[in-house]
Amino acid sequence: MESTPDRFRTGVGFDAHRLATGRPFVLGGVPIPHELGLAGHSDGDVLLHAVTDALLGACGLPDIGTRFPDNDPAWKDADSAVLLGEVRNDVAARGWAVVNVDCVVVCDRPRLAPHAAAVRTSLARLLGVPADHVGVKAKTTEGTRLAEPGESVAAFATVLLTRGEPV
Ligand code: MG
Repeated sequence: MESTPDRFRTGVGFDAHRLATGRPFVLGGVPIPHELGLAGHSDGDVLLHAVTDALLGACGLPDIGTRFPDNDPAWKDADSAVLLGEVRNDVAARGWAVVNVDCVVVCDRPRLAPHAAAVRTSLARLLGVPADHVGVKAKTTEGTRLAEPGESVAAFATVLLTRGEPV
């Protein structure tokens, strides 16, 4: 039986960052006013890191920590949108295009609901897809330890890729 070329790939990504003083709170490339920011070697954009890992995974590539090591000074305080842009180029170079992405951010404070639309627009721009191909859901911890209430933020992302031009 002849094998058929794969036409679609899915990827999943997860990330979590602690909140810290003296750091920016940037989510999906959108600066959000808050007294604490996201700790990390780069700008700590937990959502872009989850999306980036989903893209890498869909292509069978090594994860974000391997691609951009946190002991490499080149990525110190790096704009995560730049990292995502590099991975977008990797994805395109392999002949894949993003169909859609869906995300969940788990965060008690700051309240994300007022910023969800801006985050969605930003993600769509960074991924080069229409806004209705991007889902962003903001969830609170509801007393669980999925993220430490007020101390950390977690993000999940899933992505679908197709061959060639985006649908
Ligand atoms: Mg990260």
